Order: sequence, then structure tokens, then C-alpha cells
Amino acid sequence: VESALLLVGDELLCGRTRDSNLQRLADILGGIGLPVAEASVVGDSRERIAEALRRLAIPGRMVIVTGGLGPTDDDLTTEAVASAFGLCVERSSEAESMLLRRQAISGTRLSDSSWKQANIPSGAVPVFNPVGIAPGYVLRHEELVLICLPGVPAEASALLPGCLEAAGVEAVESLPVSFIRTWGLRENGLFDILREASAQCGVVPAYLPSPGRVDIKVSGDGAEVFSGRVLKMLGRNVYSRSRDETLEMVLGDRLLSAGLTLSTAESCTGGGIGAGLTAVAGSSLWYAGGVISYSNRMKIELLGVSEKTLEKHGAVSSHVVREMAEGVARLSGTQCSVAVTGIAGPSGGVQGKPVGTVWTAAMCSGRMRAFRWRLSGGREAVREGAGARALGVLLEMLS
Ligand code: ATP
Ligand code: MG
Repeated sequence: VESALLLVGDELLCGRTRDSNLQRLADILGGIGLPVAEASVVGDSRERIAEALRRLAIPGRMVIVTGGLGPTDDDLTTEAVASAFGLCVERSSEAESMLLRRQAISGTRLSDSSWKQANIPSGAVPVFNPVGIAPGYVLRHEELVLICLPGVPAEASALLPGCLEAAGVEAVESLPVSFIRTWGLRENGLFDILREASAQCGVVPAYLPSPGRVDIKVSGDGAEVFSGRVLKMLGRNVYSRSRDETLEMVLGDRLLSAGLTLSTAESCTGGGIGAGLTAVAGSSLWYAGGVISYSNRMKIELLGVSEKTLEKHGAVSSHVVREMAEGVARLSGTQCSVAVTGIAGPSGGVQGKPVGTVWTAAMCSGRMRAFRWRLSGGREAVREGAGARALGVLLEMLS
């Protein structure tokens, strides 16, 4: 059995909003044995939505729609569903009581227009929205199972499980899934390294890259054996086996249990490392803070980088990055620190130091490791990739 997704909204087509429903919902659906076979995006037009619905509604498929369930004039999904399958739109007393419940929870009166959200196609079963107003609903029509969800991503993913239950979808025996999160490796490099192992284990890994980090997802019978081999091969670059655990979280746990604290000295990453660390709840227990030392003057005055070192080796150098790491640890009184200096581009490259040249340093209780990296992929990729590597090296030193 498979599913199809229909994403509704002008904002998705005019470049204003980046879709995130496909990713989240496909992940949930894939996990319960209803992989998404096809997905379409249409604007807020009743005809277009109806046409797409008829096209996607291949017998035996489950179709899931997101968006256009709200109370405004451009919310046309319900009317489109009715017109696509020859149904009427009716006031559902069940949906109405869900809206009343919503009102009671929020303690404020719903706007007059909100009650429109109690109108759903005849025969549809509404499902309470735990995070927003518009109920979702499930419609069984002949061979078809249709689920309509609000567009706001948090609402869509929160409502999907309830709708699947209402649709009577048995959580199909989900395949065992393994997750391996890595830092500092490139997607195509990983692919080459793991090609043989994946063939031998009979798995087809999915490589999910973001700058500086790649997740490997494998499912099926060979997943566990494959993961074991990957851990052996890539050990130092693996930071977690849990998809919800970030590099920053793992590092924080490690620091906390070792009773150590961390500070950061950032040049080309401009505070991005600090932002990532402070995104972790409770990070104040192990992160002291950082210095964004973008100019030479800041490196000298705040971090105590020597003027001579800067003159002799340049800001992007092993010497400077080490002095930055030492300086910020001294300034903040932490046992650990990381520092980054590099050329994020697109301009600023020089002979011997092309764009993407980055030096990172990680210091821990007097031990120091500095590395030079050659990163590619544009300014953002270089900045994020540099941050992940600086933290990854520290994590390795703590292991
Ligand atoms: P509401 O009750 O909030 O109006 P709705 O079901 O009518 O919900 P839409 O109006 O289509 O949903 O979308 C609401 C908001 O959710 C949009 O402004 C958009 O920012 C966001 N949104 C909708 N679809 C997506 C999507 N596929 N990916 C990311 N964001 C989305
Ligand atoms: Mg809307």
C-alpha cells in the first residue's frame, strides 16, 4: 500500500514559503508502511485542487491533503474535495463540538469565521486538532481513503496519527529503521566508503545531508548489521544513533558528565556555533559563552591573539586559531574551548588560501587540536560545515 500527498497553497508556489509538510509527513508515512509514491503542489484554486485529487486518487491509495482548511476565503480544500467526489459540504456537529472544545481550552471566543471549519464533506469523520483550530478529517469514498490536514506544519504532523487511526490504518509492521548521524564527512564520500558494506548487507541507505553533517538512514532486515559495520568504519565521525539528538546535545551531555565547561571564539562562523549550542535546553550548565572576533582588533584586544602572529601567519592560520581557543578559555575560565577562523567566500580567497579554507581548534584541559579544512558549497555551507567540524573534533577529544 502506498500514499500520495497533495500540498495546497499559493504561498508554496510563489516562493514565499518553503514546504516542510512533505518531509515530515513522508517520514511518518514511510515509517508505518505507507510510503509516499507521489506528491503534488497546487495553488488555492478549487478547480486545481479537485483536478489534482482526482488524478492522485488511484484505487487502493491513501491520499493526504495539507492546507486550505482554514476559515479564510482562500481556504478551498473542503469545497474542492466535495466537488471532486460529488459530495456536499455539511455542518458536522462533531466538528462543531471540537471547535467548542478548542474555545474552552484557549479561553477566548473563536472568531465568527472560525465556525466555517465545522463544515466538512458529507460522510467525513472529523479529528480533533490538538495544536490549532481547524479539525482534520478522514473521508472514505468508494475505494479511496482521503485525509485532510491543516497546512501549518506543526498541526499537520500532530493531526496525522489521529487521522490514520480514524481511518482504521493498522500501523503496518514497521520495518526496523536505523539512524546514524555523522559529522565532517561528505555525502558522496560516505556513499563510496559504504557502498560495499551496504551491498553485502542488502540495504539501500538514504544519505540525508546538511552542511557539515550527514545522516544515514537504513531500514530492513540488514539494517542492524549494516549499522554495526558503519560504526566500526566511521566511529569517530558518528555522534549519535538517535535521529532526535543533535551534535550539540551529545557534546553537552559529554561535557556535563565530565564536569567540564565550554567557550567559543568565532570568526567566520559569526556566532553560529554559539547559536547551535544555546539552542540546547540547559546549555547554561556547560556553555559559558563566546566571542565573535571578526576583526583582527577583536582577536587582539579580547582574545589576546598576538599582533605578530596575525602579521606573520594571517588571520586564517593554525597559529591564530590556537591563540583564539586559548584566549577565549582564559577569558571565560572554561576548561574547553573551540575556535574557528576561515574564508567563507564568495570572495576573499588568496593564493594558498582559497575560499573555503577554514582552521578549527578544539581545546580540552590543556590538550589542543587544530585542523585545516577545505570546504565547498557556498558561504552558508562553509560556515555551518566549519562549526560542525569544530564541535566534532572536541567531541572526539572527550570520547
Ligand atoms: P489555517 O487554519 O492556519 O488557515 P489552513 O489549513 O488553511 O490553516 P493554510 O492556510 O493553507 O492552512 O496554511 C496556513 C499556513 O501554514 C500558511 O500560511 C503557510 O505558512 C503554512 N503552510 C501551509 N502549507 C505548508 C507547507 N506545505 N509547508 C510549510 N508551511 C505550510
Ligand atoms: Mg488558511
